[in-house]
Amino acid sequence: MSDSANEYKGKATMEKITSLAKRRGFVFQSSEIYGGQSGAWDYGPLGVELKNRIAQFWWKEMTQLHDDIVGLDAAILMHPRTWEASGHVENFTDPLVDCKKCKARFRTDMVPEENLSAKKCPECEGELTDSRKFNLMFSTHIGPAEDSASLIYIRPETAQGIYVNYKNIIQSNRMKIPFGIAQIGKAFRNEIVTKNFIFRTCEFEQMEMQYFVKPGTDEEWFNEWKKRRWASYEKLGVKMDHLRWHQHGPDELAHYAKDAYDIQYLFPMGWRELEGIHNRTDYDLSRHTEYSGKDMQYIDQENSSERYIPYIIETSAGLTRNVLMTLCDAYDEEKVADKGNDDDSRTVLRFHPTVAPITVAVLPLMKKDGLAELAQDIRSELKEDFATDYDQGGAIGRRYRRQDEAGTPFCVTIDYESKENHSVTLRFRDSMEQVRVNRAELAERLRKEIKEYKRSC
Ligand SMILES: [Zn+2]
Repeated sequence: MSDSANEYKGKATMEKITSLAKRRGFVFQSSEIYGGQSGAWDYGPLGVELKNRIAQFWWKEMTQLHDDIVGLDAAILMHPRTWEASGHVENFTDPLVDCKKCKARFRTDMVPEENLSAKKCPECEGELTDSRKFNLMFSTHIGPAEDSASLIYIRPETAQGIYVNYKNIIQSNRMKIPFGIAQIGKAFRNEIVTKNFIFRTCEFEQMEMQYFVKPGTDEEWFNEWKKRRWASYEKLGVKMDHLRWHQHGPDELAHYAKDAYDIQYLFPMGWRELEGIHNRTDYDLSRHTEYSGKDMQYIDQENSSERYIPYIIETSAGLTRNVLMTLCDAYDEEKVADKGNDDDSRTVLRFHPTVAPITVAVLPLMKKDGLAELAQDIRSELKEDFATDYDQGGAIGRRYRRQDEAGTPFCVTIDYESKENHSVTLRFRDSMEQVRVNRAELAERLRKEIKEYKRSC
């Protein structure tokens, strides 16, 4: 697998993305006033809108557009037996070594071979401990007593919440195989190496869908879901030459998986996993049958009550990782020569209007002569249907730049002509073209532009 950042030709760097994210209120370091908490990030006003919209897009793709998929929001805290059944207590580990002298901790596979064999710390040459298994699940205690009976894990993945509810959902919603359950939620992993901004963090959000199928039809459904998930990124206007498939080799396959493909995205730091599509076989439901004593077989009423444990095709995407992908994918810098100022340049986030934090900004050309009031009035009209912003401070060119940098696809400018003939200027972020639109037709025009949006640069 090529892991090199050399192939990357985009204009984003992790430094630029991190700094823009902070400057414009997309993402802040967690607890920054106390020096920051590693492995955790806070989503600011623009970031939470972006994250929510990416989640809404996914939710609509997976539930609204599929009659055979229903949603779920399971608790983060689950019965500890869940994680024995899932294999996490036993297998969800990283091999670690500690330095006895400087107390640094390393993943064993990241320490150079000569240091490992000599048991020498790569940083201070102090003595290294033997390699040991370190479980990545966070645990705490529930209830008043801190004994082993009160031990509880903070879920490391959302999938198990779906499996333990599989029977409830079949019964309450009369689901028939094949069907799916979709869920978005937080998960927590005690990663020793967190890096690349919000790419790998201890606290993150997943968007997972588990699709239950009859054994024997699993390969067909696996291919179908690969196709559907790929098409979903295309629909969102992601640069398709920045996406590729990566099939898990025998040494990468999880213990439960029959086949697994990642959709990788070309980030500034190289190709990295964005989403996984996994054929998990009947492993999960068989294990839960064994550990809970509850029969997880599906009874096919339409086929002379045939019984079987369904196979599961999983599509598992990181929501917070998708936020980073969307920022990198949208990031652009260009020289612009508008208003006769030909050495001007701009930073622009070319978000698809479906996920842009602000859809339309309303800008009065001047504050005076009633333009500000008129602009506020138009904003109020748009508010009900669009995410709007209002900005009356500074030169209009500078206000456009601010919206470009926030990724706002449309600006509406109110000028003196607006007062006379009820028309406004609609300005497009990507092309910077401006057209005159009648106020009465503005909302309809925006809806049309959003629906027909195609990224051209
Ligand atoms: Zn050391």
